[in-house]
Amino acid sequence: MSRKQRMRYREKMINIDNRCFWCGKPMVLVPQTVSEVENMATIEHLIPKQYGGGDYERNLRLVHKCCNI
Ligand SMILES: [Zn+2]
Repeated sequence: MSRKQRMRYREKMINIDNRCFWCGKPMVLVPQTVSEVENMATIEHLIPKQYGGGDYERNLRLVHKCCNI
């Protein structure tokens, strides 16, 4: 996925539901303060790429930066 595609996907998903898939707390798209950086929405692959998970939407969720490990 290109940077542009990732950004578009994050914008689309956060408008539908801004809660983290892992912890259920709200996320921000663009952090305004240093403390918000950890709450930034990032793209998580349910099936990791190294195990064959792809960039299709059923495999993608938005999660906090700090929850994405
Ligand atoms: Zn989270």
